[in-house]
Amino acid sequence: MARHSSSPSIASPPPESQFRCGFVALVGRPNVGKSTLLNALVGSKLAIVSPKPQTTRTRLLGIKTLPQAQLIFVDTPGIHTHAGPLLNRRMVEVALSALAETDITVLVIDAIRGIMPEDQEIARRLSNSQQPVIIALNKIDRVTKAKLLPVLEQLATLLPEREIVPVSALTEENLPELMLLIIGSLPVSPALYPDDELTDQSERVLAQEMIREQVFLQTQQEIPYATAVLVEEFIEKPEKHVLFIRALITVERSSQRAIIIGERGARLKQIGQAARMQLEAFFGTKVFLELFVKVSKGWTNSAGHLKELGL
Ligand code: GDP
Ligand code: MG
Repeated sequence: MARHSSSPSIASPPPESQFRCGFVALVGRPNVGKSTLLNALVGSKLAIVSPKPQTTRTRLLGIKTLPQAQLIFVDTPGIHTHAGPLLNRRMVEVALSALAETDITVLVIDAIRGIMPEDQEIARRLSNSQQPVIIALNKIDRVTKAKLLPVLEQLATLLPEREIVPVSALTEENLPELMLLIIGSLPVSPALYPDDELTDQSERVLAQEMIREQVFLQTQQEIPYATAVLVEEFIEKPEKHVLFIRALITVERSSQRAIIIGERGARLKQIGQAARMQLEAFFGTKVFLELFVKVSKGWTNSAGHLKELGL
């Protein structure tokens, strides 16, 4: 879908033949800030973000078109090495397959946590790569310089001769520098998407994700992971300046359904209100949102059901 956003222009337009374009994979452990970074680099909130790992389930493109380049970011579910139910395994497959189809990899590391065994594992996989790899050491807004140095040294040892950029996706510190490095590594190529295109996702899917984000933010423990959201109706009524959205929230057990609905519907109401505000801000119109909750036993382990949800 397309939508205009203001963007910092980085340089004056180069000759047509020097235009660069390519796919940039954002990879890393869950929760390091890949989705936040994608939103900040594209300049629009496309990917949902929560403090819980495994918020991102599918692959999402975020497209940034500048005078001299088009960067097509691929947000991936976090790569994590431990095995889990089918949903988790599918997420790892999606993340790894993204690597094969991209031109550049940006490895995102959480500076607060430092280098974890999973980061080392991902770095090992990337160290043999013929592709350009850039390391974004994220969340530096929360780390002192003294703590940053040893992490930088460790990274330089793990991935020698790769560029490392300390950044904050939250405060946007050093993002222009990261952007320039990425552009410098892109292949010379004409743009692959129209210059006002922001993502490959439909408005329906974006709405679905915004509702799911609220479920993630407003429920605890296993509930977020047992939840899927499907937008069943998405009707624009431009003459009335409203958007009507009906969505189905699927959980695994009736106890989870009760938790999502809350006492006399209180939690579902809160989820709906917060999602509606996000939707109204994004689509720039009034939104009517209807939410329903359904139980589907063991959907996270059912291949058929995952397919139905586009996972
Ligand atoms: P992902 O799982 O790698 O996609 O991570 P998310 O983008 O969902 O972010 C996970 C959490 O880290 C969220 O609570 C974000 O607000 C937080 N986060 C992301 N980037 C930054 C950053 O630069 N600084 C700080 N302090 N927090 C961040
Ligand atoms: Mg994410």
